[in-house]
Amino acid sequence: MSDTSEPCEQTRLIHAGRRSETGKGRGFNPPVERLSTVLFDSLAELRHASAGGDDGRALVYGAQGTSTTYALEDWITALEGAYRTRLYPTGLAAVAQMFQAFLRPGQHVLITDSVYGPVRGLVREFLEPFGIQCEFYAADGHDIERRIRPETRMIYAEVPGSLLYEMCDLPALSRLCKERGILLAVDNSWGSGLIYKPLALGADISLMALTKYVAGHSDVMMGSVSTTEAHWPALARMSRATGNTVSPDDAYLVLRGGRTLAPRLALHASQALQIAQWLESRPEVARVLHPALPSDPGHTLWQRDCLGSNGLVSFEFKDKDEAQLARFIDTLRLFGLGYSWGGFESLVSVVERQGTRSVTSLKDRGPMVRLHVGLEALDDLIVDLDAGFAALR
Ligand SMILES: *Cc1c(COP(=O)(O)O)cnc(C)c1O
Repeated sequence: MSDTSEPCEQTRLIHAGRRSETGKGRGFNPPVERLSTVLFDSLAELRHASAGGDDGRALVYGAQGTSTTYALEDWITALEGAYRTRLYPTGLAAVAQMFQAFLRPGQHVLITDSVYGPVRGLVREFLEPFGIQCEFYAADGHDIERRIRPETRMIYAEVPGSLLYEMCDLPALSRLCKERGILLAVDNSWGSGLIYKPLALGADISLMALTKYVAGHSDVMMGSVSTTEAHWPALARMSRATGNTVSPDDAYLVLRGGRTLAPRLALHASQALQIAQWLESRPEVARVLHPALPSDPGHTLWQRDCLGSNGLVSFEFKDKDEAQLARFIDTLRLFGLGYSWGGFESLVSVVERQGTRSVTSLKDRGPMVRLHVGLEALDDLIVDLDAGFAALR
């Protein structure tokens, strides 16, 4: 490899976020640095650190970060192709902080109808009571332009969308936003920073639930917000003002998970595609949603804009009888029943058709299930699903 060639992403994931001090032996991984108070040798040194010295990487006080959290922030910044990144205790807290940093009373925000469900709680409990006007737009984005108002400050997208993975043309959305001075913020949890690059496609802000694939082991909660240089100061100021931080132990776990993100995601994706194809062949199934599947409505955009896929697959039963959900799910042994996704294990959950959409109705659809295809052997997973379908007869 010549000195000028950029290493592949898979290589960068292994090496990013490491300090490069030389002259003494050091561990590959950052230490877990627990601290609140930082001691300085002189007033000048304290003032240098407090004024954001050493590129904002000097230790100041626990709330601003530790070498462990800085290492994770730098790693995510490399992954997202961002200017800077800030960490939050959960993915949902990252969304809340991002809204708080960029929206003001009287402004209007357009939110995708396929948004991660609990963000609707943020709309109800935080944005609307604080005078921010919220409006949902169709997950494929076809109605966005007519919904834009003079007071529209932000478009909040999730690509692909939660539960049904609708694709939206982000570069086109970005052009629309740039012409009008509107911020474009994207929930990139599906892409995990690796297989979708919102900032490269024209977004200003990209955030993730690190809880999912980046941490990847179902044992830690965290969120991140990454921005371009122009939008960094507003986020940094609000984060500092509100005192948000994460524990170094958790940051260590997330970075540890992130080192193997690329090979894990590749295996999740190949197994999920095979399961999606197998589901398509089942007589009980009306449709399968997974953007890497050629029959998926978003497949062409997925091919153009995504760099891979993941383990999420949803499908709809042909039969409208709701009772089959419990019979199918309760029969499964390997697909655990529970919230979240992105860990090493397979999970199943119900796609609720009430209260999950404002613009598009899912009421005419048959019962729907979301699978997270884990890293178990594919044949075992298919045997498990086959038993679930057998229980319907
Ligand atoms: C899970 C999830 C979140 C929230 O992350 P938590 O860490 O669980 O709070 C946000 N967005 C999407 C798309 C998610 O799937």
